[in-house]
Amino acid sequence: PAPPPIPAQTVDSAPTSAPDPKLLQSPYYPEVMQQLKNVFGLDSFRKNQLEAVLSAMDGKDTFVLMPTGGGKSLCYQLPAVCTSGPRRGVSIVVTPLVALMNDQVGQLTKKYRVNAVLWNADNQASSEHITALNQGQIALLYVTPEKLVESNRAKDIFKRLYESGLLARFVIDEAHCISTWGQDFREAYTTLGSLRKEYPNVPIIALTATANKRTVGDIISQLQMRSPLMLIQSFNRQNLSYKVVQKSPRFKFEISNEIKDHYPGKSGIVYCRAKQTCENIAQFLKTQGIIAAYYHAGMEKDDRHRVATDWQENRIQVVVATIAFGMGIDKPDDYNFGDLNTSLRMIRSDDKTTPEAKARQEADVRQMFDFAANQSECRRVQLLQHFDERFDRRLCQKTCDTCADERETVKADVTSVARAAVTLVRSARKAGMSLTPSLLMNGLRGSTNQDIKSKRVDTLDGYGKANDSPQDLVDLVIKHLLHEEYLATDSIKNAHNAFHTDVIVLGPKANEVNHRKEITVAWRPKLKGGRKGPERSNSTPSTSGKPASRAPNQRRGRKVGTELADDPIEDD
Ligand code: ADP
Ligand code: MG
Ligand code: ZN
Repeated sequence: PAPPPIPAQTVDSAPTSAPDPKLLQSPYYPEVMQQLKNVFGLDSFRKNQLEAVLSAMDGKDTFVLMPTGGGKSLCYQLPAVCTSGPRRGVSIVVTPLVALMNDQVGQLTKKYRVNAVLWNADNQASSEHITALNQGQIALLYVTPEKLVESNRAKDIFKRLYESGLLARFVIDEAHCISTWGQDFREAYTTLGSLRKEYPNVPIIALTATANKRTVGDIISQLQMRSPLMLIQSFNRQNLSYKVVQKSPRFKFEISNEIKDHYPGKSGIVYCRAKQTCENIAQFLKTQGIIAAYYHAGMEKDDRHRVATDWQENRIQVVVATIAFGMGIDKPDDYNFGDLNTSLRMIRSDDKTTPEAKARQEADVRQMFDFAANQSECRRVQLLQHFDERFDRRLCQKTCDTCADERETVKADVTSVARAAVTLVRSARKAGMSLTPSLLMNGLRGSTNQDIKSKRVDTLDGYGKANDSPQDLVDLVIKHLLHEEYLATDSIKNAHNAFHTDVIVLGPKANEVNHRKEITVAWRPKLKGGRKGPERSNSTPSTSGKPASRAPNQRRGRKVGTELADDPIEDD
Protein backbone atom coordinates (compact mmCIF):
# COMPACT_ATOMS: atom_id res chain seq x y z
CA PRO A 1 0.00 0.00 0.00
CA ALA A 2 1.07 3.56 -0.62
CA PRO A 3 2.61 5.20 2.44
CA PRO A 4 0.27 7.58 4.25
CA PRO A 5 0.78 11.24 3.35
CA ILE A 6 2.95 13.24 5.71
CA PRO A 7 0.83 15.92 7.36
CA ALA A 8 1.59 19.60 6.93
CA GLN A 9 4.05 20.92 9.47
CA THR A 10 2.62 24.17 10.69
CA VAL A 11 4.79 25.86 13.24
CA ASP A 12 3.00 27.27 16.23
CA SER A 13 5.08 30.22 17.28
CA ALA A 14 2.77 31.80 19.84
CA PRO A 15 4.79 32.14 23.03
CA THR A 16 2.23 31.01 25.58
CA SER A 17 -0.46 28.43 25.77
CA ALA A 18 -4.05 29.49 25.87
CA PRO A 19 -5.50 26.09 24.97
CA ASP A 20 -8.38 25.94 22.56
CA PRO A 21 -11.56 26.35 24.66
CA LYS A 22 -12.93 23.29 22.88
CA LEU A 23 -10.31 21.19 24.68
CA LEU A 24 -11.80 22.15 28.03
CA GLN A 25 -15.01 20.46 26.88
CA SER A 26 -13.21 17.15 26.37
CA PRO A 27 -14.73 14.30 28.42
CA TYR A 28 -11.21 13.50 29.64
CA TYR A 29 -10.48 17.01 30.82
CA PRO A 30 -11.68 16.64 34.45
CA GLU A 31 -9.62 13.52 35.06
CA VAL A 32 -6.60 15.01 33.35
CA MET A 33 -6.67 18.12 35.55
CA GLN A 34 -7.18 16.03 38.65
CA GLN A 35 -4.26 13.70 37.93
CA LEU A 36 -2.04 16.62 36.93
CA LYS A 37 -2.48 17.93 40.44
CA ASN A 38 -2.70 14.67 42.39
CA VAL A 39 0.09 12.73 40.77
CA PHE A 40 2.48 15.37 39.45
CA GLY A 41 1.67 18.20 41.85
CA LEU A 42 1.23 20.70 38.99
CA ASP A 43 -1.48 23.30 38.51
CA SER A 44 -1.40 24.11 34.84
CA PHE A 45 -0.17 22.92 31.48
CA ARG A 46 2.60 24.33 29.44
CA LYS A 47 2.17 25.05 25.77
CA ASN A 48 0.90 22.05 23.75
CA GLN A 49 0.87 19.66 26.71
CA LEU A 50 -2.90 19.50 27.11
CA GLU A 51 -3.32 19.00 23.35
CA ALA A 52 -0.82 16.14 23.40
CA VAL A 53 -2.31 14.49 26.50
CA LEU A 54 -5.88 14.54 25.18
CA SER A 55 -4.83 13.28 21.76
CA ALA A 56 -2.90 10.40 23.33
CA MET A 57 -5.82 9.53 25.59
CA ASP A 58 -8.11 9.55 22.60
CA GLY A 59 -5.95 6.88 20.98
CA LYS A 60 -4.59 9.09 18.19
CA ASP A 61 -1.11 9.12 16.76
CA THR A 62 0.60 12.26 18.01
CA PHE A 63 3.78 14.03 17.03
CA VAL A 64 5.33 16.45 19.52
CA LEU A 65 8.21 18.77 18.73
CA MET A 66 8.99 20.78 21.82
CA PRO A 67 12.21 22.39 23.04
CA THR A 68 14.38 20.64 25.60
CA GLY A 69 12.94 21.36 29.02
CA GLY A 70 9.56 22.13 27.47
CA GLY A 71 7.90 19.23 29.26
CA LYS A 72 7.63 16.37 26.79
CA SER A 73 7.59 13.65 29.47
CA LEU A 74 4.30 14.86 30.90
CA CYS A 75 2.71 14.49 27.45
CA TYR A 76 2.87 10.71 27.80
CA GLN A 77 3.24 10.17 31.55
CA LEU A 78 -0.04 11.86 32.34
CA PRO A 79 -2.15 9.84 29.84
CA ALA A 80 -0.53 6.72 31.30
CA VAL A 81 -2.05 7.44 34.71
CA CYS A 82 -5.51 8.33 33.39
CA THR A 83 -8.25 5.83 32.62
CA SER A 84 -11.13 7.81 31.11
CA GLY A 85 -10.09 7.33 27.47
CA PRO A 86 -10.76 4.28 25.30
CA ARG A 87 -7.24 2.89 25.78
CA ARG A 88 -6.47 0.36 28.50
CA GLY A 89 -3.25 -1.07 29.87
CA VAL A 90 0.38 -0.14 29.78
CA SER A 91 2.19 2.65 27.89
CA ILE A 92 5.41 1.30 26.39
CA VAL A 93 8.12 3.98 26.37
CA VAL A 94 11.25 3.75 24.22
CA THR A 95 14.18 6.03 25.02
CA PRO A 96 17.69 5.78 23.60
CA LEU A 97 19.76 5.95 26.76
CA VAL A 98 19.59 3.55 29.67
CA ALA A 99 20.68 6.32 32.04
CA LEU A 100 17.73 8.42 30.93
CA MET A 101 15.41 5.49 31.54
CA ASN A 102 16.76 4.89 35.03
CA ASP A 103 16.25 8.55 35.91
CA GLN A 104 12.70 8.64 34.67
CA VAL A 105 11.62 5.38 36.23
CA GLY A 106 13.30 6.35 39.50
CA GLN A 107 11.46 9.65 39.53
CA LEU A 108 8.12 8.12 38.59
CA THR A 109 8.22 5.45 41.26
CA LYS A 110 9.84 7.39 44.10
CA LYS A 111 8.61 10.93 43.64
CA TYR A 112 5.24 10.45 41.96
CA ARG A 113 4.40 6.96 43.23
CA VAL A 114 3.51 5.80 39.75
CA ASN A 115 3.88 2.12 38.94
CA ALA A 116 6.64 2.17 36.33
CA VAL A 117 9.22 -0.47 35.43
CA LEU A 118 12.07 -0.80 33.02
CA TRP A 119 13.47 -3.63 30.97
CA ASN A 120 16.90 -3.55 29.50
CA ALA A 121 19.84 -5.90 29.11
CA ASP A 122 20.44 -6.02 32.90
CA ASN A 123 16.89 -5.84 34.04
CA GLN A 124 14.77 -8.71 32.78
CA ALA A 125 11.02 -9.19 32.82
CA SER A 126 10.14 -10.85 36.14
CA SER A 127 7.07 -13.00 36.74
CA GLU A 128 5.72 -10.30 39.08
CA HIS A 129 5.98 -7.81 36.22
CA ILE A 130 4.09 -10.12 33.92
CA THR A 131 1.30 -10.71 36.41
CA ALA A 132 0.99 -6.98 37.04
CA LEU A 133 0.97 -6.24 33.31
CA ASN A 134 -1.76 -8.81 32.70
CA GLN A 135 -3.84 -7.15 35.38
CA GLY A 136 -3.28 -3.71 33.87
CA GLN A 137 -1.43 -2.56 37.01
CA ILE A 138 1.66 -1.10 35.40
CA ALA A 139 1.26 2.38 33.99
CA LEU A 140 4.55 2.77 32.17
CA LEU A 141 7.05 0.23 30.92
CA TYR A 142 10.36 1.65 29.69
CA VAL A 143 12.24 -0.54 27.24
CA THR A 144 15.23 -0.29 24.96
CA PRO A 145 14.37 -0.61 21.28
CA GLU A 146 16.29 -3.89 21.15
CA LYS A 147 14.12 -5.41 23.87
CA LEU A 148 10.91 -4.23 22.31
CA VAL A 149 11.54 -5.58 18.86
CA GLU A 150 14.23 -8.22 19.07
CA SER A 151 13.82 -10.12 22.33
CA ASN A 152 11.57 -13.12 21.71
CA ARG A 153 10.50 -13.37 25.31
CA ALA A 154 9.49 -9.71 25.46
CA LYS A 155 7.72 -10.00 22.13
CA ASP A 156 5.65 -12.93 23.42
CA ILE A 157 4.60 -10.88 26.41
CA PHE A 158 3.67 -7.89 24.23
CA LYS A 159 1.73 -10.09 21.80
CA ARG A 160 -0.37 -11.50 24.62
CA LEU A 161 -0.98 -8.05 26.07
CA TYR A 162 -1.94 -6.83 22.62
CA GLU A 163 -4.45 -9.59 22.18
CA SER A 164 -6.03 -8.78 25.56
CA GLY A 165 -6.23 -5.09 24.62
CA LEU A 166 -3.72 -4.13 27.29
CA LEU A 167 -1.20 -2.21 25.18
CA ALA A 168 -2.31 1.39 25.60
CA ARG A 169 0.24 3.10 23.33
CA PHE A 170 3.81 3.18 22.14
CA VAL A 171 5.82 6.24 23.06
CA ILE A 172 8.97 6.94 21.09
CA ASP A 173 10.97 9.57 22.98
CA GLU A 174 13.91 11.28 21.26
CA ALA A 175 12.26 10.10 18.05
CA HIS A 176 14.83 11.87 15.84
CA CYS A 177 17.17 8.95 16.63
CA ILE A 178 15.28 6.93 14.01
CA SER A 179 16.35 9.24 11.21
CA THR A 180 19.71 9.18 9.51
CA TRP A 181 19.01 12.87 8.82
CA GLY A 182 18.94 13.58 12.53
CA GLN A 183 21.84 14.57 14.75
CA ASP A 184 21.84 11.39 16.71
CA PHE A 185 20.97 8.40 14.56
CA ARG A 186 20.68 5.04 16.39
CA GLU A 187 20.69 1.84 14.44
CA ALA A 188 18.40 0.12 16.96
CA TYR A 189 15.68 2.74 16.46
CA THR A 190 15.13 1.70 12.83
CA THR A 191 13.64 -1.58 14.04
CA LEU A 192 10.78 0.42 15.57
CA GLY A 193 9.43 0.69 12.04
CA SER A 194 7.89 -2.76 12.52
CA LEU A 195 5.65 -1.75 15.45
CA ARG A 196 2.79 -0.57 13.29
CA LYS A 197 2.75 -3.82 11.33
CA GLU A 198 2.92 -6.04 14.39
CA TYR A 199 0.54 -4.04 16.58
CA PRO A 200 -1.64 -2.22 14.05
CA ASN A 201 -4.19 -0.85 16.50
CA VAL A 202 -1.79 0.61 19.04
CA PRO A 203 -1.40 4.40 18.79
CA ILE A 204 2.10 5.86 18.50
CA ILE A 205 3.34 9.03 20.19
CA ALA A 206 6.64 10.41 18.87
CA LEU A 207 8.48 13.19 20.69
CA THR A 208 11.63 15.14 19.94
CA ALA A 209 13.30 18.50 20.51
CA THR A 210 15.46 18.55 17.42
CA ALA A 211 14.11 17.85 13.98
CA ASN A 212 13.93 19.85 10.82
CA LYS A 213 11.26 19.28 8.18
CA ARG A 214 13.05 16.43 6.55
CA THR A 215 13.67 14.63 9.84
CA VAL A 216 10.06 15.08 10.93
CA GLY A 217 8.89 13.59 7.64
CA ASP A 218 11.31 10.73 8.02
CA ILE A 219 10.17 9.94 11.57
CA ILE A 220 6.51 9.88 10.56
CA SER A 221 7.03 7.69 7.52
CA GLN A 222 9.38 5.26 9.26
CA LEU A 223 7.01 4.77 12.19
CA GLN A 224 4.12 4.67 9.68
CA MET A 225 2.16 7.09 11.79
CA ARG A 226 -1.45 7.64 10.67
CA SER A 227 -2.44 11.31 10.22
CA PRO A 228 -0.87 12.22 13.54
CA LEU A 229 -1.84 15.33 15.43
CA MET A 230 1.13 17.60 14.76
CA LEU A 231 2.18 19.71 17.71
CA ILE A 232 5.18 21.62 16.44
CA GLN A 233 6.63 24.40 18.49
CA SER A 234 8.79 27.15 17.15
CA PHE A 235 12.52 27.07 17.76
CA ASN A 236 12.39 30.79 18.36
CA ARG A 237 13.53 31.64 21.89
CA GLN A 238 12.01 34.95 22.84
CA ASN A 239 13.93 35.11 26.07
CA LEU A 240 17.24 35.15 24.23
CA SER A 241 18.90 37.95 22.35
CA TYR A 242 21.69 37.31 19.92
CA LYS A 243 24.84 39.18 19.10
CA VAL A 244 27.67 38.03 16.87
CA VAL A 245 31.00 39.78 17.26
CA GLN A 246 33.97 39.20 15.06
CA LYS A 247 36.90 37.88 16.96
CA SER A 248 39.74 40.33 17.05
CA PRO A 249 43.07 40.05 18.82
CA ARG A 250 41.37 41.89 21.66
CA PHE A 251 38.54 39.40 21.99
CA LYS A 252 39.37 38.56 25.60
CA PHE A 253 38.85 42.19 26.56
CA GLU A 254 35.67 42.27 24.53
CA ILE A 255 34.31 39.32 26.46
CA SER A 256 35.23 40.78 29.83
CA ASN A 257 33.85 44.21 28.90
CA GLU A 258 30.62 42.68 27.65
CA ILE A 259 30.22 40.93 30.99
CA LYS A 260 31.15 43.98 33.07
CA ASP A 261 29.11 46.48 31.04
CA HIS A 262 25.98 44.48 30.40
CA TYR A 263 25.78 41.83 33.10
CA PRO A 264 27.06 43.28 36.34
CA GLY A 265 26.08 40.99 39.20
CA LYS A 266 24.45 38.49 36.83
CA SER A 267 25.65 34.98 36.24
CA GLY A 268 26.40 33.39 32.91
CA ILE A 269 28.33 30.94 30.78
CA VAL A 270 31.02 31.54 28.19
CA TYR A 271 31.29 28.59 25.82
CA CYS A 272 34.54 27.72 24.08
CA ARG A 273 35.46 24.86 21.85
CA ALA A 274 38.75 23.76 23.36
CA LYS A 275 39.48 22.85 26.96
CA GLN A 276 42.68 24.88 27.02
CA THR A 277 40.78 27.96 25.82
CA CYS A 278 38.34 27.57 28.72
CA GLU A 279 41.22 27.60 31.18
CA ASN A 280 42.93 30.57 29.53
CA ILE A 281 39.82 32.70 29.35
CA ALA A 282 38.71 31.87 32.90
CA GLN A 283 42.18 32.88 34.07
CA PHE A 284 42.00 36.11 32.09
CA LEU A 285 38.53 37.01 33.38
CA LYS A 286 39.83 36.62 36.93
CA THR A 287 42.55 39.17 36.23
CA GLN A 288 39.75 41.51 35.15
CA GLY A 289 38.02 41.18 38.50
CA ILE A 290 35.33 38.74 37.38
CA ILE A 291 34.71 35.70 39.57
CA ALA A 292 35.18 32.98 36.98
CA ALA A 293 35.99 29.27 36.77
CA TYR A 294 36.40 26.79 33.96
CA TYR A 295 34.55 23.54 33.31
CA HIS A 296 35.32 20.80 30.80
CA ALA A 297 35.27 17.05 30.38
CA GLY A 298 38.99 16.76 31.15
CA MET A 299 38.42 17.62 34.83
CA GLU A 300 37.90 15.29 37.76
CA LYS A 301 34.24 14.59 38.46
CA ASP A 302 34.45 16.22 41.91
CA ASP A 303 35.95 19.40 40.50
CA ARG A 304 33.28 19.62 37.84
CA HIS A 305 30.58 19.09 40.42
CA ARG A 306 32.03 21.81 42.65
CA VAL A 307 32.15 24.35 39.82
CA ALA A 308 28.57 23.54 38.77
CA THR A 309 27.27 23.95 42.32
CA ASP A 310 29.26 27.10 42.97
CA TRP A 311 27.80 28.58 39.82
CA GLN A 312 24.27 27.47 40.60
CA GLU A 313 24.54 28.96 44.07
CA ASN A 314 26.06 32.20 42.78
CA ARG A 315 29.49 31.80 44.33
CA ILE A 316 30.87 31.95 40.80
CA GLN A 317 29.64 34.55 38.33
CA VAL A 318 30.93 33.12 35.08
CA VAL A 319 31.72 29.56 34.03
CA VAL A 320 33.93 29.23 30.98
CA ALA A 321 33.04 25.84 29.59
CA THR A 322 32.94 23.45 26.69
CA ILE A 323 29.55 22.02 25.74
CA ALA A 324 30.18 19.39 28.40
CA PHE A 325 28.52 21.96 30.69
CA GLY A 326 24.74 21.85 30.24
CA MET A 327 24.15 20.26 26.86
CA GLY A 328 21.86 21.86 24.41
CA ILE A 329 22.50 25.52 25.11
CA ASP A 330 23.47 27.81 22.25
CA LYS A 331 27.12 28.68 22.12
CA PRO A 332 28.00 32.35 21.79
CA ASP A 333 30.79 31.07 19.58
CA ASP A 334 33.35 33.63 18.63
CA TYR A 335 34.77 32.66 15.28
CA ASN A 336 37.34 33.39 12.67
CA PHE A 337 38.76 31.90 9.49
CA GLY A 338 40.96 29.72 11.59
CA ASP A 339 37.97 28.30 13.39
CA LEU A 340 36.42 27.28 10.09
CA ASN A 341 39.60 25.59 9.09
CA THR A 342 40.17 23.90 12.45
CA SER A 343 36.62 22.57 12.47
CA LEU A 344 36.92 21.18 8.96
CA ARG A 345 40.27 19.63 9.82
CA MET A 346 38.77 17.95 12.87
CA ILE A 347 35.91 16.51 10.84
CA ARG A 348 38.13 15.30 8.02
CA SER A 349 40.66 13.63 10.26
CA ASP A 350 38.10 11.66 12.26
CA ASP A 351 38.26 8.14 10.86
CA LYS A 352 35.31 6.88 12.87
CA THR A 353 32.79 8.89 10.86
CA THR A 354 31.30 7.79 7.56
CA PRO A 355 31.80 9.95 4.46
CA GLU A 356 28.10 10.87 4.47
CA ALA A 357 28.21 11.99 8.08
CA LYS A 358 31.37 13.98 7.35
CA ALA A 359 29.68 15.73 4.46
CA ARG A 360 26.77 16.65 6.74
CA GLN A 361 29.06 17.90 9.48
CA GLU A 362 30.98 19.98 6.96
CA ALA A 363 27.77 21.50 5.72
CA ASP A 364 26.87 22.36 9.33
CA VAL A 365 30.21 24.02 9.92
CA ARG A 366 29.87 26.05 6.74
CA GLN A 367 26.40 27.12 7.82
CA MET A 368 27.82 28.24 11.14
CA PHE A 369 30.47 30.22 9.28
CA ASP A 370 27.85 31.86 7.09
CA PHE A 371 25.80 32.66 10.15
CA ALA A 372 28.67 34.47 11.77
CA ALA A 373 29.66 36.25 8.57
CA ASN A 374 26.17 37.44 7.70
CA GLN A 375 25.78 40.90 9.15
CA SER A 376 22.56 41.91 7.49
CA GLU A 377 19.99 39.18 8.06
CA CYS A 378 18.18 38.92 11.40
CA ARG A 379 19.87 36.28 13.60
CA ARG A 380 16.52 34.68 14.38
CA VAL A 381 15.67 34.38 10.70
CA GLN A 382 19.02 32.69 10.14
CA LEU A 383 18.83 30.39 13.16
CA LEU A 384 15.29 29.32 12.45
CA GLN A 385 16.06 28.70 8.80
CA HIS A 386 18.30 25.95 10.07
CA PHE A 387 15.15 24.26 11.38
CA ASP A 388 13.21 25.02 8.18
CA GLU A 389 11.19 27.60 10.00
CA ARG A 390 10.30 30.90 8.49
CA PHE A 391 10.46 33.84 10.86
CA ASP A 392 9.13 37.33 10.29
CA ARG A 393 12.06 39.58 11.16
CA ARG A 394 9.77 42.36 12.35
CA LEU A 395 8.95 40.19 15.36
CA CYS A 396 12.58 40.28 16.47
CA GLN A 397 12.12 43.81 17.83
CA LYS A 398 15.83 44.57 17.75
CA THR A 399 16.74 41.69 20.03
CA CYS A 400 19.59 40.59 17.81
CA ASP A 401 22.72 42.43 16.73
CA THR A 402 21.77 42.77 13.08
CA CYS A 403 18.27 44.12 13.80
CA ALA A 404 19.63 46.46 16.44
CA ASP A 405 22.18 47.81 13.99
CA GLU A 406 20.90 51.09 12.57
CA ARG A 407 23.20 51.17 9.59
CA GLU A 408 21.50 50.63 6.26
CA THR A 409 22.38 47.64 4.15
CA VAL A 410 23.65 48.32 0.65
CA LYS A 411 24.36 45.97 -2.20
CA ALA A 412 28.04 46.59 -2.84
CA ASP A 413 29.57 45.71 -6.18
CA VAL A 414 32.84 44.07 -5.19
CA THR A 415 33.72 42.41 -8.49
CA SER A 416 37.13 44.03 -8.83
CA VAL A 417 38.14 43.44 -5.20
CA ALA A 418 37.04 39.81 -5.50
CA ARG A 419 39.07 39.28 -8.64
CA ALA A 420 42.08 41.00 -7.10
CA ALA A 421 41.88 38.73 -4.06
CA VAL A 422 41.94 35.60 -6.20
CA THR A 423 44.76 37.08 -8.30
CA LEU A 424 46.82 37.85 -5.20
CA VAL A 425 46.38 34.33 -3.84
CA ARG A 426 47.26 32.85 -7.22
CA SER A 427 50.38 34.95 -7.69
CA ALA A 428 51.47 34.11 -4.14
CA ARG A 429 51.20 30.46 -5.00
CA LYS A 430 53.28 30.97 -8.15
CA ALA A 431 55.90 32.63 -5.98
CA GLY A 432 55.86 29.63 -3.65
CA MET A 433 54.26 31.58 -0.79
CA SER A 434 51.30 31.05 1.49
CA LEU A 435 49.15 33.99 2.52
CA THR A 436 47.68 34.14 5.99
CA PRO A 437 44.30 35.90 6.18
CA SER A 438 46.01 39.04 7.47
CA LEU A 439 48.61 39.07 4.69
CA LEU A 440 45.83 38.73 2.14
CA MET A 441 43.80 41.51 3.73
CA ASN A 442 46.71 43.89 4.18
CA GLY A 443 48.14 43.03 0.80
CA LEU A 444 44.88 43.84 -0.95
CA ARG A 445 44.66 47.13 0.89
CA GLY A 446 48.22 48.06 -0.06
CA SER A 447 49.64 48.07 3.43
CA THR A 448 53.37 48.71 3.72
CA ASN A 449 53.83 47.14 7.12
CA GLN A 450 56.82 45.07 8.15
CA ASP A 451 55.18 41.75 7.44
CA ILE A 452 54.17 42.74 3.91
CA LYS A 453 57.64 44.08 3.14
CA SER A 454 59.62 41.18 4.55
CA LYS A 455 57.45 38.61 2.76
CA ARG A 456 57.53 40.73 -0.41
CA VAL A 457 53.75 40.62 -0.74
CA ASP A 458 54.03 44.09 -2.32
CA THR A 459 55.64 42.54 -5.39
CA LEU A 460 52.68 40.26 -6.13
CA ASP A 461 49.91 40.74 -8.69
CA GLY A 462 46.79 42.05 -7.06
CA TYR A 463 48.68 43.92 -4.31
CA GLY A 464 47.02 47.22 -3.36
CA LYS A 465 44.06 46.67 -5.70
CA ALA A 466 41.63 47.37 -2.88
CA ASN A 467 43.47 50.32 -1.36
CA ASP A 468 40.39 52.51 -1.43
CA SER A 469 38.02 49.95 0.12
CA PRO A 470 37.30 49.98 3.84
CA GLN A 471 38.69 47.09 5.78
CA ASP A 472 35.31 45.70 6.86
CA LEU A 473 34.23 45.53 3.22
CA VAL A 474 37.40 43.68 2.16
CA ASP A 475 36.88 41.35 5.10
CA LEU A 476 33.35 40.66 3.90
CA VAL A 477 34.60 40.00 0.37
CA ILE A 478 37.12 37.43 1.62
CA LYS A 479 34.42 35.66 3.59
CA HIS A 480 32.16 35.69 0.57
CA LEU A 481 34.92 34.19 -1.56
CA LEU A 482 35.48 31.46 1.03
CA HIS A 483 31.81 30.74 1.19
CA GLU A 484 31.44 30.53 -2.58
CA GLU A 485 34.61 28.40 -2.76
CA TYR A 486 36.54 30.78 -4.99
CA LEU A 487 38.99 30.64 -2.11
CA ALA A 488 39.54 28.01 0.56
CA THR A 489 41.44 27.67 3.80
CA ASP A 490 44.28 25.32 4.43
CA SER A 491 46.79 24.92 7.19
CA ILE A 492 50.53 24.55 7.18
CA LYS A 493 52.75 23.47 10.01
CA ASN A 494 55.10 26.13 11.26
CA ALA A 495 58.85 25.82 11.42
CA HIS A 496 58.87 23.83 14.65
CA ASN A 497 56.09 21.61 13.39
CA ALA A 498 54.20 22.40 16.54
CA PHE A 499 51.29 24.58 15.47
CA HIS A 500 49.16 24.94 12.42
CA THR A 501 49.04 28.25 10.64
CA ASP A 502 45.90 28.96 8.68
CA VAL A 503 46.40 30.14 5.15
CA ILE A 504 44.15 31.11 2.28
CA VAL A 505 44.49 29.10 -0.91
CA LEU A 506 42.67 28.90 -4.24
CA GLY A 507 39.29 27.25 -3.97
CA PRO A 508 37.76 24.77 -6.43
CA LYS A 509 35.94 27.59 -8.21
CA ALA A 510 38.86 30.04 -8.34
CA ASN A 511 38.90 30.16 -12.13
CA GLU A 512 35.25 31.16 -12.33
CA VAL A 513 35.75 34.48 -10.62
CA ASN A 514 36.74 36.16 -13.88
CA HIS A 515 33.72 34.83 -15.74
CA ARG A 516 31.19 36.14 -13.26
CA LYS A 517 29.70 39.38 -14.55
CA GLU A 518 29.16 40.85 -11.15
CA ILE A 519 29.91 39.88 -7.57
CA THR A 520 27.99 41.65 -4.84
CA VAL A 521 27.76 41.46 -1.06
CA ALA A 522 25.28 42.88 1.43
CA TRP A 523 27.27 45.49 3.32
CA ARG A 524 26.51 47.95 6.07
CA PRO A 525 28.78 50.98 5.71
CA LYS A 526 29.84 52.68 8.92
CA LEU A 527 27.73 55.59 10.03
CA LYS A 528 29.32 59.03 9.80
CA GLY A 529 31.41 59.70 12.85
CA GLY A 530 32.61 56.13 12.98
CA ARG A 531 29.59 54.77 14.83
CA LYS A 532 28.76 51.24 13.79
CA GLY A 533 25.43 50.90 15.51
CA PRO A 534 23.76 51.38 18.86
CA GLU A 535 24.72 48.03 20.31
CA ARG A 536 28.34 48.12 19.36
CA SER A 537 30.71 50.47 21.03
CA ASN A 538 34.17 50.94 19.66
CA SER A 539 35.54 52.00 22.99
CA THR A 540 38.89 50.64 23.90
CA PRO A 541 38.98 48.77 27.19
CA SER A 542 40.22 50.95 30.01
CA THR A 543 42.81 48.38 30.96
CA SER A 544 44.62 48.90 27.69
CA GLY A 545 46.84 51.91 27.43
CA LYS A 546 46.27 52.26 23.72
CA PRO A 547 44.29 55.10 22.16
CA ALA A 548 40.81 54.28 21.00
CA SER A 549 41.37 55.09 17.37
CA ARG A 550 44.29 54.17 15.25
CA ALA A 551 45.11 54.53 11.59
CA PRO A 552 42.71 52.40 9.59
CA ASN A 553 45.40 50.14 8.27
CA GLN A 554 46.66 49.34 11.70
CA ARG A 555 43.33 48.86 13.34
CA ARG A 556 42.96 45.14 13.78
CA GLY A 557 44.95 44.95 10.60
CA ARG A 558 47.67 42.74 11.96
CA LYS A 559 45.36 39.81 12.04
CA VAL A 560 41.97 39.10 10.58
CA GLY A 561 41.37 37.11 13.68
CA THR A 562 43.72 34.20 13.93
CA GLU A 563 43.99 34.37 17.67
CA LEU A 564 42.60 30.97 18.45
CA ALA A 565 44.03 29.20 15.45
CA ASP A 566 46.82 27.85 17.55
CA ASP A 567 44.52 26.27 20.05
CA PRO A 568 45.18 22.63 20.66
CA ILE A 569 42.47 20.52 19.14
CA GLU A 570 40.85 18.68 21.97
CA ASP A 571 37.20 19.04 21.51
CA ASP A 572 34.74 17.03 23.52
P1 ADP B 1 11.76 17.64 27.95
O1 ADP B 1 11.67 16.14 27.92
O2 ADP B 1 10.82 18.31 26.99
O3 ADP B 1 13.16 18.15 27.78
P2 ADP B 1 10.90 17.31 30.68
O4 ADP B 1 9.71 16.48 30.40
O5 ADP B 1 12.10 16.62 31.20
O6 ADP B 1 11.32 18.15 29.39
O7 ADP B 1 10.46 18.50 31.66
C1 ADP B 1 11.34 19.50 32.05
C2 ADP B 1 10.94 20.07 33.38
O8 ADP B 1 9.72 20.80 33.27
C3 ADP B 1 10.72 19.02 34.44
O9 ADP B 1 11.35 19.42 35.62
C4 ADP B 1 9.21 18.99 34.61
O10 ADP B 1 8.84 18.62 35.89
C5 ADP B 1 8.82 20.44 34.31
N1 ADP B 1 7.44 20.55 33.83
C6 ADP B 1 6.88 19.86 32.81
N2 ADP B 1 5.60 20.26 32.61
C7 ADP B 1 5.34 21.20 33.54
C8 ADP B 1 4.18 22.00 33.85
N3 ADP B 1 3.04 21.89 33.17
N4 ADP B 1 4.28 22.88 34.87
C9 ADP B 1 5.45 23.00 35.56
N5 ADP B 1 6.55 22.29 35.31
C10 ADP B 1 6.52 21.39 34.32
MG1 MG C 1 12.79 14.45 27.48
ZN1 ZN D 1 16.72 40.14 14.54
